[in-house]
Amino acid sequence: MREGQLTFFGGVGKSGGVQVVYGKGNQGLMFDFGVEHSSLLFPKQLTLYLPVGATPGRELRQYVLGGMTAPLVQLYDPDQLGGLDMQKVSQVWGDRQFPSYGQISVFIGHMHTDHMAVLPYAKPGLPVYMNHDAFSLYRGMVAGGHSPDTAAQIQVCEDLSVVDFGEFTMQIIEMDHNATGSAGILIDDGVHKIAYTGDWRRHGKHPERIDRFIRLCRERQVDLLITEGTRLAADPFAEIPRQMTEDELLAGFSDRVSEAEGLVYVQMSPRDLERMANLMAIANKNGREIVMEASQALIWHAANREGLRILKGHPALGADIRVIDATVTNPMTTMPYRTISLEEVAGRKQQYVYFFKFPDLAHLIELETLGDLQGRSHFIQSDYSVKLEHPDVAKYLKTFGITGHSLCNGGHAHPEAIADMIEGIAPKAVITLHSRHPRSQHTRGVYAYHPEKGETATVSSILASATLAGNRA
Ligand SMILES: [Zn+2]
Ligand SMILES: [Zn+2]
Repeated sequence: MREGQLTFFGGVGKSGGVQVVYGKGNQGLMFDFGVEHSSLLFPKQLTLYLPVGATPGRELRQYVLGGMTAPLVQLYDPDQLGGLDMQKVSQVWGDRQFPSYGQISVFIGHMHTDHMAVLPYAKPGLPVYMNHDAFSLYRGMVAGGHSPDTAAQIQVCEDLSVVDFGEFTMQIIEMDHNATGSAGILIDDGVHKIAYTGDWRRHGKHPERIDRFIRLCRERQVDLLITEGTRLAADPFAEIPRQMTEDELLAGFSDRVSEAEGLVYVQMSPRDLERMANLMAIANKNGREIVMEASQALIWHAANREGLRILKGHPALGADIRVIDATVTNPMTTMPYRTISLEEVAGRKQQYVYFFKFPDLAHLIELETLGDLQGRSHFIQSDYSVKLEHPDVAKYLKTFGITGHSLCNGGHAHPEAIADMIEGIAPKAVITLHSRHPRSQHTRGVYAYHPEKGETATVSSILASATLAGNRA
């Protein structure tokens, strides 16, 4: 029987897009199913008129032909591949031979595009495993138009549940990251144990989850740890700034809202539903109601309909949400909330927090010119890809005398926190993916293995090189 091995299709020397297949015997498990941030097509760039992205209806062909996703035809919807010449795809990968498995299942750790972009193009019925709240968020993203749906067979897993693939087992372990429901996994094939963190941070709302991951991996004597290293710099001795904790960030928001006289705008990612819930609760506590752009309201509503574990009993679940009518662009969509006009919000600026979306910048012209309280509004940018310094945002803030605040802490671990994790778990070897500078990670004496894109290595060969390195030291 073939021993456990890993093939690295993505996330090697790049930020995002982790695609690794662990396989043993005839069973394979691909973890994460996204596309790298720096790939040819992602993120979408804005031109004057339309976003630049994959061609509608040909997305999968372009991802596969561009080498952005694994050349494993059994993972994909044949209709979407549209008779793509796999010989050409093989050339993209230098005609490298990859191990084949009778069955490949997929695990998706969280719902950021660089981890799930390929999900809508999965082969109908492909088994895809994910944590419960990640699934709830996905349902929200589909409802809000942030992602197409999938024909894959999604298997919803609870925290700490174990899936048995015969040749090996996989345990789902919830982590902390700025996407709701993020989870890592622990693979156990009876000979070796491999842990994969997914994207994570130690300064989030749930540091206890990270501590638990470390403890579980240590108790189980994990041999090989695969972690993210997004924040690493080219210089291994560079000073990497500390991020504020989530509690500090929420306290900062509370201060801003309690002091604000005019309208408060919040620009954040609706894939972090826990932060969204906390900001909503703080707004309500300060006597402000919630108004929202339509797609965010749809995501919030549909995800919560699935019963998000993380928000059980949260005060924001009862919040009265109004949707800005101008953002309901599709008249066929039934809005789960009442709508409100820009004029009404402009007339009572001090009563609302507006969960805003960047392309709706023009709303500010009406909101800040109509009604009273001109020049007293606040614009809070909270971990969104368009920053306060963006020339278009800056221009609006300046024109209308709006005070801008940046309340961000990012979703990724400080390199020091990663080193603490490596030391705490004490694996025989560590692999840092999801990083442009994996060699900058300090591993506190643990052997670091650096795979290449497209490489296949048996777990025992990686561990053997660790032993060799140890003997030399
Ligand atoms: Zn990522
Ligand atoms: Zn992420």
